[in-house]
Amino acid sequence: MNSTSKKHIALISVHGDPAIEIGKEEAGGQNVYVRQVGEALAAQGWYVDMFTRKANAQHSQIVEHSPRCRTIRLTAGPETFIPRQDIFGYCNEFLEELLKFQAQAGWQYSLVHTNYWLSAWVGMAWQKRQSIKQVHTYHSLGAVKYKSVATIPMIAGTRLGVERAVLEKASRIVATSPQEKDHMRSLISSKGNIDIIPCGTNLHRFSSIDQYEARQQLGFGTEDKVILYVGRFDQRKGIETLVRAVSQSKLRGNTNLKLIIAGGYRAGQSDGVEKDRIERLVGELGIEDITSFPGSLTGDILPAYYAAADVCVVPSYYEPFGLVAIEAMASGTPVVASKVGGLQYTVLPEETGLLVPPKNEFALAAAIDSILSNPELRNKLGFRARARVENKFSWQRVAYRLNNLYTDLLPESAKVLEQASA
Ligand code: UDP
Repeated sequence: MNSTSKKHIALISVHGDPAIEIGKEEAGGQNVYVRQVGEALAAQGWYVDMFTRKANAQHSQIVEHSPRCRTIRLTAGPETFIPRQDIFGYCNEFLEELLKFQAQAGWQYSLVHTNYWLSAWVGMAWQKRQSIKQVHTYHSLGAVKYKSVATIPMIAGTRLGVERAVLEKASRIVATSPQEKDHMRSLISSKGNIDIIPCGTNLHRFSSIDQYEARQQLGFGTEDKVILYVGRFDQRKGIETLVRAVSQSKLRGNTNLKLIIAGGYRAGQSDGVEKDRIERLVGELGIEDITSFPGSLTGDILPAYYAAADVCVVPSYYEPFGLVAIEAMASGTPVVASKVGGLQYTVLPEETGLLVPPKNEFALAAAIDSILSNPELRNKLGFRARARVENKFSWQRVAYRLNNLYTDLLPESAKVLEQASA
């Protein structure tokens, strides 16, 4: 039997590869969260292995991010992209591969932090095979999602069952906002231990460039009124509400208006279909002259877009947290967001941005216009937005709180970490 290592922890993200370039098909907040949390925990002394399903035969099996943090891609099912609703059938194979990897490594992980319900299932099945603590972050709740979709997928019953079981059985659940915790309690179960630990963002990356420089780099003029959306193409992100809002006469009255809808998509996949639908709508509404789709934004270009914008809009119908909001805020750009989920926690109305009812293009247009037509208000909100993120939402702060949580669950690990940092 291998000896249990108190320092080695596993993060599981079956469908969200933490080593992949963000902005690609189905890659979004979960990939960013797992990668950033993993790296920040490693900086605090943990040895972090992040397990994901290998979704591309060309990808290497192991990617080292830092001396203590790596992504490990396990072969479970075909080495091609599989939409998340079709992955469950491969989770058992995923666990077997993970156990093989652990046996070869010669230690036992003492704690697993699972992400999304597919990984929750793997974590619970793992617990049946060995003694291991499980911490879970949902990223999305089936109980909320299925209220807003027209067709409920076949997998829904399984997902809801797993989401309930993990809440009741895991050592700890991490809710990323008080609103997400409320949903867990009201829609899933009154049992189980929940801590609220928000998501974070990179304070340096998202303040690396000022608005003037960013506009020069991207080819925008100083007089342009720039409205930015960043995120996945998914109906529940509410991009339709945003384009309808921009087509309102109130906003169209602004000269030099520019609407940027950024995010990756692939032809034939669900996000490609949504992108085509939005593009058609933009044409029908007659705003194609002011709308651009720059595709997925990576590296230094993403901070430049946030900095260049007058306002960043997060028009989601539901959002457990919403990383894009705090990235814009870290860049000193005010956010107009739907009054849903975690956006009510990150965006303080009239202080760091504005909140409007979801699916309401008129309210959204009025809120955007109030910022575009008042540069002083824009700057005031942007300044306070940056201050709020500095105080509450750095990845270091998130990792510090997760470190305390893990250490509570694994009292012995505290000693090991103290020795490691001595
Ligand atoms: N993102 C990116 N490039 C893009 C589009 C999105 O890097 O072109 C990133 C974005 O910066 C954020 C994440 O994808 O970190 C989206 O996270 P969020 O929580 O807002 O939404 P989710 O994808 O979890 O629904």
